[in-house]
Amino acid sequence: MISSHASGLRCIGCGAAFTLVYRLECDRCAGLLELQYDWDALAKAGPGTFTGSGIWRYAPVLPIADPAHRVTLGEGQSPLLECPALGRRLGVRRLLAKFEGSNPTGTVKDRSSATGVSAALQFGFSATSVVSSGNAGSSVAAYSARAGLRSLVFAYEKASAPKLLHMAATATDLVIYQGVYDDLIGIWDRLVEDRLFFDCGASRNAFKHEGKKTLAYEIAEQLGWRAPDMVVAPVAVGETFIAAHRGFAEMERVGWIARRPRMVAAQAARANAVTRAWREQRAIEPIRIGYTVAEGLAAGDPGKKGAWTLALLKENGGLAGDAEDEEILEAQTLLARTEGIWAGPTGVATLAVLCRLLAEKAVDPDATICVVLSETGLKTEAPPPSRQGLAFDEASLRRLVQERLGRG
Ligand SMILES: [Zn+2]
Repeated sequence: MISSHASGLRCIGCGAAFTLVYRLECDRCAGLLELQYDWDALAKAGPGTFTGSGIWRYAPVLPIADPAHRVTLGEGQSPLLECPALGRRLGVRRLLAKFEGSNPTGTVKDRSSATGVSAALQFGFSATSVVSSGNAGSSVAAYSARAGLRSLVFAYEKASAPKLLHMAATATDLVIYQGVYDDLIGIWDRLVEDRLFFDCGASRNAFKHEGKKTLAYEIAEQLGWRAPDMVVAPVAVGETFIAAHRGFAEMERVGWIARRPRMVAAQAARANAVTRAWREQRAIEPIRIGYTVAEGLAAGDPGKKGAWTLALLKENGGLAGDAEDEEILEAQTLLARTEGIWAGPTGVATLAVLCRLLAEKAVDPDATICVVLSETGLKTEAPPPSRQGLAFDEASLRRLVQERLGRG
């Protein structure tokens, strides 16, 4: 049995310590909480302490004590793909893509759904809930079904048809909400206190958040316990970004990697509250947003995690950037053509932002750069390029093949 070395919770605001109970914020300053571990035991054990597959390979640095509570659909161990052709195209010496589309529901959120739903079992809840733009809803619903828990999923009315189909199939209750994520999340967060469901949202739950940390552990392990020079992670409210940073910082702390990577926060230009604040060197001001093709990044008010993301960027010499929808769609096609990787717009925003930062000479092209591609392209809803069929006889078929492929 792999045991968890989680030892408690700590407030990121005032440093207050709490035992390992289901608590979402500090009772002194309402700050967010982060999990603490027995660092000495981990440093002593070394990375050889990790065994098995999937994200539960990293169970010693996850907060689920009883293996019977560890829900899985086979998430994690996603490929870290070398991208030499795309790297040459962009002038980057070594470009890596961590492709999260290979997870069971096609998104990085499966990592946090696994620890979130497992924590719901650990703390004796019978139902989960989440406010989603699409990916979180289908992921939380699938893991809840797997665990035998009820799920009440609130889905964005503009979520893609494949995401809605997936949610309708897996959720116990699916409710479509009007407006954008920001319109519902504030009041939903307040209902969490009634404890009718376990909080599977991205705003506050440290137990759910923690699963995404495995992204960093995997990248380091796949590189032979090294970090890339730079990691580009998506930011909506900042969950994936903060979790990845936490993972690298922990490994640096216990001496498993020599140094953490420089982190880049990537946003859609139509939902860029964190990037604006970073550029203008001020606090985050929530913005009213409309639709962006990067549905999963459509949050105009990133709340406390947005502020945490901004603080991490400042403390660690990070960078923030954004990209327009057109640039995101161009990056999606470029990635598919050059490397055969089909990521969705939400997933590929990181690459679009990297392209911009390279053009602005804001990043070093000699660095080893890893972009996190957070979702599959298979859930994208867009008209196919053409549905016009052609009729052939042998002569016309030969002519076409020679025209297309016969030029040497
Ligand atoms: Zn506090």
